[in-house]
Amino acid sequence: MGQRTVIITGGNRGIGLDITRTYVEAGYHVVVGARNAYDLEKEFGDQVTFVKVDVRKESDHVLLTEIALQKTGRIDCYVNNAGFSEWRPIEEIDEAFLDDILNTNLKGAFWGCKAAAKVLGPEGTIINISSIAGKRGSSNNSAYVASKFGMNGLTQSLAKELGPKQIRVLALCPVLISTDGLLDALQSPYAPANGNPEAFISNFAKGNSALLRLPTGREVGNMCVFLASNAASAMTGQCINVDCGVLPQ
Ligand code: NDP
Repeated sequence: MGQRTVIITGGNRGIGLDITRTYVEAGYHVVVGARNAYDLEKEFGDQVTFVKVDVRKESDHVLLTEIALQKTGRIDCYVNNAGFSEWRPIEEIDEAFLDDILNTNLKGAFWGCKAAAKVLGPEGTIINISSIAGKRGSSNNSAYVASKFGMNGLTQSLAKELGPKQIRVLALCPVLISTDGLLDALQSPYAPANGNPEAFISNFAKGNSALLRLPTGREVGNMCVFLASNAASAMTGQCINVDCGVLPQ
């Protein structure tokens, strides 16, 4: 058998890059699908294969699985991580914006799950990077929240559907993690940060987290590697908070 292999969408920066780092350290070959390679080759050499994709296209997910199979002959895990957030009140939501956020965050995960379901063997795992926004509504954020509630529904449904093939399907629900994507989104006048994302994040941690801090991308990566391992072989269909105790369980 070839080297254990994981496909990670958006594994080139932000939380996805930390997920890539964690799988590489765990001995996996990582196939990253995103629009830009950034410094992947410099950091990982041939431990990571970059494929330029747009997650909104079904055929790009199929391409990811084909390239992974050419590379190592096996796929153990598919992580649907690519996505974005943008705070907008309902009056400011137009069709182009709604299509973009749903097509990227939700439809992209559908296509990833579909491509993965065709190639994963028994003991294969699909991990959807959702959000605590997939469990709790919030003001000026309905489009993102709807995309993440959808992702959790997708996870729970496919856990039942793919369970008989012994494919496990799980979601992780992080709370705020300070990435470029989050900091950009928090600059919006509709976001709850009042123009100061760093202060907002720090105050949020102190006021809302049981651990008085927020999670890191590496902690999300650790959960991904754990869920893909035999140690988690009885777990499927769960949407697990990675939130330092922000939401009550
Ligand atoms: P970033 O904006 O930092 O990174 C987004 C990633 O998604 C990039 O790798 C980007 O790659 C990729 N991506 C976006 N659109 C596409 C597309 N159409 N095709 C291919 N790749 C795409 O985001 P984060 O790291 O903060 O977030 C990653 C995931 O985690 C998202 O799903 C987000 O909703 C979720 N999340 C984030 C939280 C946070 O606080 N940061 C909290 C909870 C969940 P490129 O631009 O090169 O294509």
